[in-house]
This record gives sequence, C-alpha cells and structure tokens, in this order.
Amino acid sequence: MALEKYKEKRNFTKTPEPEAKAVKGGQGRFAVQEHHASQLHWDFRLEMAEDLNSDTIVLKSWAVPKGIPEEVGEKRLAVEVEDHPVDYIDFEGEIPEGSYGAGAVKIWDSGKYELIKRDEKIIEFILEGKKAKGRYTLIKTSGYGGKNSWLIIKNTPKGV
Ligand code: MN
Repeated sequence: MALEKYKEKRNFTKTPEPEAKAVKGGQGRFAVQEHHASQLHWDFRLEMAEDLNSDTIVLKSWAVPKGIPEEVGEKRLAVEVEDHPVDYIDFEGEIPEGSYGAGAVKIWDSGKYELIKRDEKIIEFILEGKKAKGRYTLIKTSGYGGKNSWLIIKNTPKGV
C-alpha cells in the first residue's frame, strides 16, 4: 500500500507534516529539503509513480547526508527512505521534539525535472531548479553500504 511506512512513523496529532494521501497523475516536480534533524541532511524528493508498474504518485525520497552534488562528476551517498505524500513537496516547519525526524525543515531548492530513464537500479533526470541544475543520475549500489544505498552523481552543468 502506498505510504504505509510514512504513516507508521508519524503521529499526525503531533507533527505538522502533511497527512498521507496518495494521488493519481501529475508528476515532474522535485524538492530538496534541508532537514536539521539529529544529523543535518538534505532530503531529495522526486514526484513520480511509487514503482514502475503503478500510477499512484508519491515523492520518492532519499536522505543525502552531504547534500546534492554541485560539481560535475561529484558523487554523494543518497539513502532511500520511505515514500512521502506529494503534499510534502513544499513542507517547511518544525517537527517537534519526540517526533520522528524532529527538527527544522526548510526548502533548499525546488523546481521541475525531466525524467530521462528509470528502472529498478538507475534513475536519470535533468533538474531545473535554482541551485540544482543539470543532468544527474541516481544509481543503486546493489547492497554496498546497505540495501537502501544509492549514489547521486552530477553529470552535466546544464540540461544536455
Ligand atoms: Mn529528513
């Protein structure tokens, strides 16, 4: 079921985060949220179908400890986390102490993206943000570094 893990982790009477709501159709936006949790990290989210055979749209999500790579050729660890609801794309606020992911969340960048390729192990796309621009690849590391580990690589400075 869509967003089950998202719901399990949260108490919506306590957190200001959006409730889990699965939607159909509409995709093509991304966001990077700077999350001042116990460990500062950046949450990278792509609005897309929850899996290759689904028409339910969620935010596929990765926690990127060092942030989105800014130089061509740079690689950063990106740990896949639970799918988030589409409404989360512009969430900013303070997740209270004692709640999952407690700490401040603010938008670092957002915009549209163009999907080039998606399969189980590779997602290629062009980001059209203010800070994150150009072609990137997410590659699943096949178990190295944990089963949810991916690398995000910056391929080109612009959308080419
Ligand atoms: Mn986070």
